[in-house]
Amino acid sequence: MNSVIEISVVIPVYNEEGNVFLLFERLNNVFDKLNVSKEYIFINDGSKDKSIERIKSLAKEYGYVKFVNFSRNFGHQIAVSAGLDYANGEKIVIIDSDLQDPPELIYDMYIKMKEGYEVVYAKRKSREGDPLTKKITAKLFYRILSKITEINIPVDTGDYRIMEKKIVEILKNMPEQEKYLRGQIAWTGFRQTFIEFNRHERHSGNTGYPYSKMFRFAFNGITSFSNFPLKFATYSGFIAAFIAFLLMIYALYSRFIIKDYVPGWASLMICILFLGGVQLISLGIIGEYIARLSANIKKRPLYIIDETNIAK
Ligand code: UDP
Ligand code: MG
Repeated sequence: MNSVIEISVVIPVYNEEGNVFLLFERLNNVFDKLNVSKEYIFINDGSKDKSIERIKSLAKEYGYVKFVNFSRNFGHQIAVSAGLDYANGEKIVIIDSDLQDPPELIYDMYIKMKEGYEVVYAKRKSREGDPLTKKITAKLFYRILSKITEINIPVDTGDYRIMEKKIVEILKNMPEQEKYLRGQIAWTGFRQTFIEFNRHERHSGNTGYPYSKMFRFAFNGITSFSNFPLKFATYSGFIAAFIAFLLMIYALYSRFIIKDYVPGWASLMICILFLGGVQLISLGIIGEYIARLSANIKKRPLYIIDETNIAK
């Protein structure tokens, strides 16, 4: 079978037995409207319910339904990565399987792409059904992340998006262990835009992202795209050294000029402050080297070329 697939839909699934069939139907409705060739790639990420049976029953009946069944739960980002590895389409959609990402949006994103974009992501205008704490922490996190990273990672955006195959090929060359896909995709550059939508409650089942997983995910986002935590020691070292310097002057002043002092105070203060500053700056220097190490270990390509007229 050599026919070209226009759109691959990558669908990570973790305990979504109540959603698989409905998602399939709604996707089909969208593709009836779009009228392009498709494949749905379900990645069952170690579900403990009947998700895989549902997926297999669809695969049996429809040739365009494909599945990858993980041996255990590896996590959402890894499930999506596997889907990207197996996708064959010219364009690839990533969508949650709990219907919080309305499949109907694929139509709009696909049309938007035609205006000349390589990535169109879906930006959440509101989040229904998420508890207030999640709304607040998510809002805060996205804003802090965008402050401390050099690349523009879109705020209030999940992984729901459509992108050209060439972006996916680049992602496959970024073998980082700790995935933060939305950051990696932003990092690749190209023409990226978004459309907005209101995010509804999940159709059925419970979130597979408890706070522990969310925290780890957020931490991945920060450490993969920012060296700010490493630089923190350098900053605080310089601040401590500066304060130490001022205090040293004061200590010397009170010791020798006004001669009003507790014996030993000046020398003790100067020692503590000086050593504290030196230690923090040294830690910062080590941090800088670790930052370089971690950049190299990530093995990201140095640059990405969209076009050139030089043959190689
Ligand atoms: N998911 C997954 N593996 C996990 C957790 C979640 O594949 O370990 C899938 C899940 O089935 C859904 C998507 O990732 O399709 C988003 O997860 P969820 O809806 O639980 O997260 P939330 O929307 O609550 O942040
Ligand atoms: Mg969800």
